[in-house]
Amino acid sequence: MSDVPKKLYIKTYGCQMNVYDSERMAEALGGQGYEQVDSPEGADMIVLNTCHIREKAAEKVYSELGRYKGLKAANPDLKIGVAGCVAQAEGAEIMRRQPMVDLVVGPQSYHRLPEMEAKARSGEKALDTDFPEELKFDHLPKGRKASRGPTAFLTVQEGCDKFCAFCVVPYTRGAEVSRPVSRVLREAEGLVEQGVREITLLGQNVNAYHGQEGGEDWGLARLIRRLAEIDGLDRIRFTTSHPNDMEDDLIAAHGDCEKLMPYLHLPVQSGSDRILKRMNRGHTAQEYLRLIERIRAARPDILMSGDFIVGFPEETEEDFQATMDLVEAVNYGQCFSFKYSARPGTPAAERPLVEQAAADDRLQRLQTLLTTQQRAAQDAMVGREVGVLFEKAGRLPGQMVGKSDHLHAVHVQCDLPVGTLARVRITESGPNSLAGELL
Ligand code: SAM
Ligand code: SF4
Repeated sequence: MSDVPKKLYIKTYGCQMNVYDSERMAEALGGQGYEQVDSPEGADMIVLNTCHIREKAAEKVYSELGRYKGLKAANPDLKIGVAGCVAQAEGAEIMRRQPMVDLVVGPQSYHRLPEMEAKARSGEKALDTDFPEELKFDHLPKGRKASRGPTAFLTVQEGCDKFCAFCVVPYTRGAEVSRPVSRVLREAEGLVEQGVREITLLGQNVNAYHGQEGGEDWGLARLIRRLAEIDGLDRIRFTTSHPNDMEDDLIAAHGDCEKLMPYLHLPVQSGSDRILKRMNRGHTAQEYLRLIERIRAARPDILMSGDFIVGFPEETEEDFQATMDLVEAVNYGQCFSFKYSARPGTPAAERPLVEQAAADDRLQRLQTLLTTQQRAAQDAMVGREVGVLFEKAGRLPGQMVGKSDHLHAVHVQCDLPVGTLARVRITESGPNSLAGELL
């Protein structure tokens, strides 16, 4: 291996789990002599870490690949890889449609990347979209550490057994698997040693976490309480949760675990019981609302977040109105909403679409309501004292930006170093962020 590092460019699409996976891929390829760079120009290897959750994902990947043709022509040694859920779903088809792709790797096989890279370097095509027996994270080689800010993601659970009628995750990420407790703790301690002060635990259904330790089964609440004992780790978050896995001890942890931040992403998708049933969500709107009451009883100032899909097959105006009513009842502090997108291979893809103009109109009405709630939650922070973990310099001179306990971006005039957790009084609420002053 030459001493000059080879340049690796990774472009990441989609969820936070992909962000985490990209970091792990960079580390694994670090062991092969790669150093991550910010631009594809001059790279020795380009990896697209793709997302398949909504339509046109594969088309976007092909058009992005097309943009690298010139780079490949200028440097025939450039290797191009496709990773993530589009790689899992499309497999060898990617190399057939775009022969300049050297490597296709599904999300469960990243620990095999070093061998695959060597194969690609020797001029062969490398393809791996298996669901291997071994857990990828526990077999990923460690290379050069990516540079670290004060916050980090840590995947504790992967895959999903819920099979919501619209969703590709069970097909692209496979069955639900939890990482062993000891591995998670070791990784968290390593992150804290590198200066991380806030960890977000990731999983497609993170609150379904059931890790093993000493022959015992640990739920997410127990894991969080154990992580909270790590000195130097100040904040813990987790995402994404399913309402049916919100167990009592996890709700209680929101009330009594100080390091667990008052923000919860708990998607419901629809407020109509008829649609929830057709989505195979396994709960009603009332059950979700009761759950939120219990969570708020444990932590009254918790900021609720969620996901909604509008225009699901057979959704009527009445169903949509039930969604709007549920949103009014919950009063979200932050929320994501999407127009339904048929995913080939999922049960809902066989059903007739609702009229697209109606779906667009519903999405707009829902987003208007959600934006109003989001803004109101932000405005309500003015005058309050919050903790802010500073992550980087702001755009204005002498300004720092960080996240509040409730995950609001906060700008403060100060020269505290990145990674400082400070008490701040919120003085202003802007369109997308807050401003405050040090206490
Ligand atoms: N496991 C999480 C849950 O159950 O809420 C969410 C996982 S998914 C990666 C993130 C969000 O994408 C979902 O909550 C849903 O709102 C949205 N989504 C998934 N499939 C979709 C589809 N076919 N069309 C539109 N939105 C979709
Ligand atoms: Fe997809 Fe979440 Fe449903 Fe699993 S629980 S199928 S990841 S939406």
